[in-house]
Amino acid sequence: MSLFSAVEMAPRDPILGLNEAFNADTRPNKVNLGVGVYYNEEGRIPLLRAVAAAEMARLELNAPRGYLPIEGIASYDMAVQGLLFGADSALVADGRVVTSQALGGTGALKIGADFLKRILPDAVVAISNPSWENHRALFESAGFPVQNYAYYDAASHGIDRAGMLEDLKNLPPRSIVVLHACCHNPTGVDLLPEDWKQVLDVLRAKDHVPFIDIAYQGFGDGIEEDAAAVRLFAESGLTFFVSSSFSKSFSLYGERVGALSMVTQSREESARVLSQIKRVIRTNYSNPPTHGATVVSAVLNNAELRAMWEAELGEMRTRIQEMRLTMVRQLAEKGARQDFSFVAKQRGMFSYSGLTAAQVERLRVEFGVYAIGTGRICAAALNHNNLDHVTDAIVQVI
Ligand code: PMP
Repeated sequence: MSLFSAVEMAPRDPILGLNEAFNADTRPNKVNLGVGVYYNEEGRIPLLRAVAAAEMARLELNAPRGYLPIEGIASYDMAVQGLLFGADSALVADGRVVTSQALGGTGALKIGADFLKRILPDAVVAISNPSWENHRALFESAGFPVQNYAYYDAASHGIDRAGMLEDLKNLPPRSIVVLHACCHNPTGVDLLPEDWKQVLDVLRAKDHVPFIDIAYQGFGDGIEEDAAAVRLFAESGLTFFVSSSFSKSFSLYGERVGALSMVTQSREESARVLSQIKRVIRTNYSNPPTHGATVVSAVLNNAELRAMWEAELGEMRTRIQEMRLTMVRQLAEKGARQDFSFVAKQRGMFSYSGLTAAQVERLRVEFGVYAIGTGRICAAALNHNNLDHVTDAIVQVI
């Protein structure tokens, strides 16, 4: 009998399945809104000018490719801290932030989860309902039971505030609570500053461990603005985790550039925490790759390249916002039987459109417009060439 004869087929990733169906579709006006990446006005994944410039400079150096330190490039880790906590962070100056390069935001979450399993083996992990699908899978694969806390309220296209606070209060003390810093995936609906304060109060009262996931810094209201929740937690004196991703903000998806940061209570605690994080990394993949983090570090640490990047990130943010506004306007002009103005208030790449699974199905079958069954669409995949077809189709199916 073969070693693998009893191996079952794992369930298919629903988004990959959607992409396969999209690729096989021969209709010329097909549109893929199921993706999780930013496309430019030409419908392509951009190579940012700041990234290209940093890559050219690096190529000219003909630099050797030795191993990196386990925690990655020091100048990169410091730049990540600057983005998260601000250029003049007292916390950073006091040595209370530990940062390690990671394999994208996913890798950061996984290292953090594995480390947490060692220090809080019996904890429960709570994620928003709904959340990025991989949150549950990642923490479950690290050995934690994962629960949902109330978050999205479909009726108001907003937040179920009372439900959320209640659920966070009812978790066992010292639970791990995963929070989206900005540009909530999949809904596009973020907490307001007052909400963050209330969440913080509950987490503090229950001694929960916040794990803030920031995968879209700069896509919401701006680089500094989008870090507001991280800064609020930093001021609170709590111990917490942050996973960062540069996949979207640098359009470096395949380079796997992210970081895990932990806020500790002292420099001495930081040293112990870092030593354990290094152990987790060492026994998983030894040390991180060079290219992506070298490029991000070069951009963030050079005034000219950084200004270029900030401008490009601003262009991406503004383009998505313009697409949201144009979509809302077109739907109203075309006589849509529903009000879609909430779409313009959402932030980031994604939008819970309110479309039902049956409507999403009709969009695909009748119009070649692909979205996720939950009604999630990627606003960053809209452009002036495909929007008319998308809004025509939506008006027909609702
Ligand atoms: N967190 C959230 C909320 C995400 O949406 C994503 C990516 N889709 C990630 C983390 C992972 O990012 P990365 O691709 O850098 O691993």
